[in-house]
Amino acid sequence: MSKAMTLLYEVYNGLYVNLTNRCSCRCTFCLRGQGESVCGSDSLWLEREPTFEEVRDAFARFDMEKYDEVVFCGFGEPTEAWEVLKEVAAYVKETYGLPVRVNTNGQGSLINGRDIAPEFAGIIDAVSISLNTPNPERYAELTRSQFGDAAFPAMLDFAREVKRSVPDVTMTTVETTLTPEEEAACQRICDDLGVNYRIRLWVDQGKITK
Ligand code: SF4
Repeated sequence: MSKAMTLLYEVYNGLYVNLTNRCSCRCTFCLRGQGESVCGSDSLWLEREPTFEEVRDAFARFDMEKYDEVVFCGFGEPTEAWEVLKEVAAYVKETYGLPVRVNTNGQGSLINGRDIAPEFAGIIDAVSISLNTPNPERYAELTRSQFGDAAFPAMLDFAREVKRSVPDVTMTTVETTLTPEEEAACQRICDDLGVNYRIRLWVDQGKITK
């Protein structure tokens, strides 16, 4: 495995942010087991986690006029680096005026030991949460979260709560992985939570799995 300090990488019209390789899950389908990069980027395995100043300086090396949005994704769960993420998101909005999205496994409140949903207000415009399956037991099998059975209900609670702070909240599953009945169950879950439901490709615009 090669390591680099690839903090930002392009995916189509978006600039993606790679803050951490930590993750509360060990998903059976995680793309990190398939390679080191996304969309031709250098290795997304980090030598170490960056500071806010290092990420800020990395933005200065890109032509920010080229991008439609900034997306926190990368080779890990972005809310594992929540304090740096918030600083970077606020900086991006203030400096470049671009929309900011977070792609997450939805376990950020468990990871940080408090409800982080209200902290999204004003700095994050969109959140994409991996629902994966409507079935809690299957979710535990697939994600192998360090939080065990607590992860699935916490992920749903996060979706409900973050909807109060963020205008665009979408939960996703991957196409061909669920039956039509299961997808209909996912749609009902999302309807109950008041969030969008989207069935996406496995490798979708650089969202490795989220
Ligand atoms: S797929 Fe996402 S949530 Fe699952 S282990 Fe990989 S980085 Fe973590």
